[in-house]
Amino acid sequence: MTAGVRVGAAADLGRAVDRELRGAWLVDPASGREGPGDLVIREGRVESIAWLEGPHAAGIDDRGVVVAPGFTDLHAHLREPGNEAAETIASGLAAAAHGGFTTVCAMPNTTPPIDRAAMVAAVAAAAMAGGSPVRLFQVAAATAGRAGEQLAELGELASAGVVGFSDDGSPIQRAELLRNALAYAGMLGLPIIDHPEDLAQTTGAEAHDGLVATVLGLRGWASAAESSAVARDIEILAEVVRDVPGTRLHLTHLSTGASIEHVRAAKAAGLPVTCDVTPHHLALTDEWLVGSRRWAWLALDDGGNARDPWRDRALEADPYDTALRVNPPLRSAVDARACLEGLLDDTVDAVATDHAPHNQVDKDVEFGAARPGIAGIETALGVLLEAVDAGLLPLSRAIEALTVGPARVLGKAAEAPGLVEGAEADLVVFDRGTRWTVDGGSLRTSGWGNPLSGRSLPGSVLLTVAGGRLAFEAR
Ligand SMILES: [Zn+2]
Repeated sequence: MTAGVRVGAAADLGRAVDRELRGAWLVDPASGREGPGDLVIREGRVESIAWLEGPHAAGIDDRGVVVAPGFTDLHAHLREPGNEAAETIASGLAAAAHGGFTTVCAMPNTTPPIDRAAMVAAVAAAAMAGGSPVRLFQVAAATAGRAGEQLAELGELASAGVVGFSDDGSPIQRAELLRNALAYAGMLGLPIIDHPEDLAQTTGAEAHDGLVATVLGLRGWASAAESSAVARDIEILAEVVRDVPGTRLHLTHLSTGASIEHVRAAKAAGLPVTCDVTPHHLALTDEWLVGSRRWAWLALDDGGNARDPWRDRALEADPYDTALRVNPPLRSAVDARACLEGLLDDTVDAVATDHAPHNQVDKDVEFGAARPGIAGIETALGVLLEAVDAGLLPLSRAIEALTVGPARVLGKAAEAPGLVEGAEADLVVFDRGTRWTVDGGSLRTSGWGNPLSGRSLPGSVLLTVAGGRLAFEAR
């Protein structure tokens, strides 16, 4: 089986792509179709797609080279302006392309926060200057300076082209402010993206409130601090949507079973709510903090209860790895399963990475002092493919959650991702049969520390084409 992928020079980055991808497994969630096929790109456009049958399809399956629409990340932190030592727009977009992403939504919690139209323009100019063809969508702060005191200039920001509003890193804590933000953003046709956390319950919290935190002497981050915020946000949404039908609430990086259940009920009631989960909350659990390195689904017993990592002798790494400090924290295996089940029954609309790079000074410190965040935009695909390989997640659903799902959350801002003849090529080619090792040599992010460092993941990305132009190619 060949995918016709040739090694290109770095100078080719950004150039219009010509490629013949023959005998690959094509996955197109928009049309619901997948199977063996040939896809030819000429001067950046999809010239032809031929679905193969009979003898031409022999030996081609979904375990080899896969061609899918380019991924969209709803949630990434690029750190520019203000913390270019951790990540720049250029390094972040390079990491995105290596991860198969062709569209990235940048969160506004930079220094200073992105809360004015002029700053949106400055970020767009920096992205343009970097030369990456990966699309950067900006999420603007919902409140001025992310201070949670008064709304930012949402109308001005909408005119500048932002795709939503969020104080991510923090919730919109004051109820009347969230109410006004939802209404105003709804009138502008844009979603409010909330980071659900009741700050009154998480002061000083270091790790998921459970046995692991107790054993390690870390202060607990209660599940209820998230799920109660989710419930409050949904109640406010239900009020606002009666007056402003265009209102949309997106809840990001949900991590607990109770949160997922709240969203499931809200969707059943017809409320305009969407949500995402991260790869790390699907696949990693709090037992990694004591040194386990098994995937979340291997940490459950047949009855769906969390196994005991000590009794299982599952501990293989040093405890207190600060690469694992993240907000919300890694939860129990039961919560991870609930997030996966939400993904399977469409309660969860998208997988978003919450790519959150930090430099060594902020991360290589005592566990509780480490800045929360995992720079996971390059490992998202591999982690999801581990769940696919385990038989827990259909490949097509994993791809859908990285393409059609996030595009639906963004609404009119995003073009529908798909493999379409005549359209600009926007796609990723990866080889499920080839594993790659996560380390400083393979990663493009400037972020320090990765909890998967040294580990191999399936699905090596061979080629990423964004808007018809070369964004990444394996060498
Ligand atoms: Zn957040």
